[in-house]
Amino acid sequence: MVERFIRDVPDFPKEGILFKDITPLLQSPEGLAQAIEGLAAAVDPASYDTVCGIESRGFIFGTALACKLGKGFVPIRKPGKLPWKTESESYQLEYGSDTIEIHVDAASQGPRFLMVDDLLATGGTMAAALTLVRRIGATPVACAFVIELGFLPGRAKLGDVPIHSLLTY
Ligand code: AMP
Repeated sequence: MVERFIRDVPDFPKEGILFKDITPLLQSPEGLAQAIEGLAAAVDPASYDTVCGIESRGFIFGTALACKLGKGFVPIRKPGKLPWKTESESYQLEYGSDTIEIHVDAASQGPRFLMVDDLLATGGTMAAALTLVRRIGATPVACAFVIELGFLPGRAKLGDVPIHSLLTY
């Protein structure tokens, strides 16, 4: 049960947002292990080749999972961070927009991707990530999150890609 390691921080980063803080979970040897074990058990590891994580908290869980399973890791990053040739995708936020990028050759170690992030909220970030990985010729086999905010319509944005969450609010 990872729930007891999640700290609620009201009004961060702005008023009205209840921020789900994962740092107590990361600090706890037990909590961290449970999260990685949970993600490993959520999706059959034989169904994907590569773990793909979204900057920056998706990197923490994604790389630990990839290493545990003997798979490689692909980062999806904020604009201007990746040094090689990239594809980019922009998506709408409540106010304004955001962009994420991936290297064009990121599927070279295996095209079946498990998509990992810490939290599913509106789904905008992961929906853009799915578009990106498809554009470079990879297939998103499933999405795995530590936390899902079930009162937001995030799932509906991700089409028919199976979604797994360790903890739903
Ligand atoms: P979204 O694109 O709305 O699904 O937002 C997902 C991204 O925003 C994830 O990478 C989360 O890290 C972050 N995020 C959104 N809402 C929260 C929240 N209430 N608490 C913590 N992180 C959040």
